[in-house]
Amino acid sequence: MIRVGVIGACGRMGLMVCRAVAEAEDLALVAAIDRSKVGQKIGQMIGHPEIGAPVSDELDRLLEAEAEVAIDFTHPDVVMDDVRWCVAHAIHIVVGTTGVSQEDLREIEGLMADDGHESNVIVAPNFALGAVLMQRFAAQAARYFPAVEIIELHHDQKADAPSGTAVATVRRIQEERPEPWHGPLPESLEGVRGGDVDGIRVHSVRLPGLVAHQEVLFGGQGQTLAIRHDSTDRSSFMPGVLLAARAVMTRKGLTVGLEPLLDLPPLP
Ligand code: NAP
Repeated sequence: MIRVGVIGACGRMGLMVCRAVAEAEDLALVAAIDRSKVGQKIGQMIGHPEIGAPVSDELDRLLEAEAEVAIDFTHPDVVMDDVRWCVAHAIHIVVGTTGVSQEDLREIEGLMADDGHESNVIVAPNFALGAVLMQRFAAQAARYFPAVEIIELHHDQKADAPSGTAVATVRRIQEERPEPWHGPLPESLEGVRGGDVDGIRVHSVRLPGLVAHQEVLFGGQGQTLAIRHDSTDRSSFMPGVLLAARAVMTRKGLTVGLEPLLDLPPLP
């Protein structure tokens, strides 16, 4: 049994992750950290009253509960503090919270390089298998089209824009085709052309009723290609989260994205 603590346990993702961990045969939910609902029993909230762990706002609770793995779904403003704490206390951490920048990733690598570190870190902006494949297919298509724009659509409570998935998609596309995508384009109203993420236009839509959606739109001579993924329910993220919670026990150092865990063949 892998002993798991969830940080941000009472949020939209956190509650689902707690339930998925509780229902996995090889995982045990031993701690729930959140600044909301402190003192309430997490088991009652997820339909598993046999789990007695009360919600705590202290990360020390992870140590008391002997958690081996922490799973973080909190907020972009606090996630790096949680990573630093877990690495300093030799607890492996799976980071689902978005907003982790390239600079943050370099810092995590630095923490990993420190003598005596014993924890591994997986950071994945999107745990849905279909979203991983969307990014991979986009990277393949990038070689054959001269222009691309990304439209990402999320629920209106999302804390960050652009989404971590959009930024990760840009990076993946740039790896396959490092040349500039296009020059300056006219814009009579500021922002109407979306934001410039490393030379690729990203349009962020925020509406109630949405969950997590993205379309990568390629344009070429006389044709367009749209690669689209829709998470219509947060349960789409759970298989990927559980996969990462298992993998982080043995995958040394820092892993970014779910793709390295999926055993996919290399791109031709
Ligand atoms: P949410 O519903 O707001 O949940 C976040 C939870 O963390 C809330 O209960 C919040 O408490 C708590 N929290 C915030 N700061 C805290 C702190 N300092 N200490 C302890 N608890 C704290 O958000 P969500 O929709 O679950 O999303 C969480 C993150 O996951 C976001 O960054 C989102 O973009 C990301 N996400 C990632 C994926 C993926 O596949 N990687 C999928 C979906 C979402 P309060 O309610 O008091 O603020």
